[in-house]
Amino acid sequence: MSRPIKATVNTAALRHNLYTVKQLAPSANVWSVVKANAYGHGLARCFSALSSTDGFALLNYEEAIFLREAGITQPILLLEGFFKPYDLSLIEAYQLTVAVHSYWQVEALANFAAKKPISVYLKINNGMNRLGFSPDDVATVWQQLSALPSVGKVTLMSHFASADEGEMQMREPLRRLDLATSMLNAPRCYANSAATLWHPGTHHQWIRPGIILYGASPSGRSEDIAGFGLRPVMTLSSEIIAIQEVAPGEGIGYGHRYSTTTTQRIGVIACGYADGYPRHAPSGTPVIVAGKHCHTVGTISMDMMMVDLTHCPEATIGTPVELWGAQLPVDTVGAVAGTLGYELLTAVTQRVPFSVTANEN
Ligand SMILES: *Cc1c(COP(=O)(O)O)cnc(C)c1O
Repeated sequence: MSRPIKATVNTAALRHNLYTVKQLAPSANVWSVVKANAYGHGLARCFSALSSTDGFALLNYEEAIFLREAGITQPILLLEGFFKPYDLSLIEAYQLTVAVHSYWQVEALANFAAKKPISVYLKINNGMNRLGFSPDDVATVWQQLSALPSVGKVTLMSHFASADEGEMQMREPLRRLDLATSMLNAPRCYANSAATLWHPGTHHQWIRPGIILYGASPSGRSEDIAGFGLRPVMTLSSEIIAIQEVAPGEGIGYGHRYSTTTTQRIGVIACGYADGYPRHAPSGTPVIVAGKHCHTVGTISMDMMMVDLTHCPEATIGTPVELWGAQLPVDTVGAVAGTLGYELLTAVTQRVPFSVTANEN
């Protein structure tokens, strides 16, 4: 007995996507990025389907500790580094690998007496201008880190701002990386999902795919990943809970942002923005009702949304609705609502119950 909305996580799809990624980058090791509670899918639900990964990457300590306490023995990488010098004791205790992006962190490592050296990822700013050392400073920082007794293996790390936009946008970041690292004999880890798919020259020793493991597109356009055989992992579904026959010229929902043009059959779906559905999705956003493409009408409410069922006479109360997932790419909904699959997947709220399936579909 519950409200009919639910999110279903397909662990077979997750396993398949990791396998697909490994085929795409056969000589690289894979950090499976599971930050943000595995992109909203639930870390506890997902990590065993990713057990063949070479490591897990995330950014908060709670998730890292959870994985260690669940018996994960692979390396765990903290993508955002550590936040305070005293965090290093925890990093040592849980044997975490940590990004180093700022001088204060080099100093903290220098002042830390580690019993077992800590593996670090030296973050290079290639022009994204978010985290990392400038290319001019990298060789010096690399030498400083390599000389510290508290530091173990040093890997070069960088992140691309526009790896989903073609070769041209990669030229300058790659030039800067080359400038920073050509003299350094160290493993490299540069590729996110977009670079994993579209720039194989960036794979090197380690890749860091996130969104493609969950079957969504790094560009936010589902057609861009259509050829790779990735499968959507999360399906958000609900049901029709009421139906109205509405006369022509009537307004639908808050603000009457949609008006009927003929007599229309309007269904009410138990899903709204308090479930994580984007409130900005306009009239015309696709939803699947009884396996058929239908369109929303009117403003998304907190708990409900309306759908035009005029051309779906088979729909009745209790008919299943897919908001996104196996039949409707999350990126298609994201594109219409002015956002990305990344945001929708991570925005599903606490009140939505999750279940797990391992359907091979
Ligand atoms: C989130 C993140 C990734 C994964 O990005 P995707 O686009 O989801 O593949 C890789 N590296 C860093 C540093 C990240 O923060």
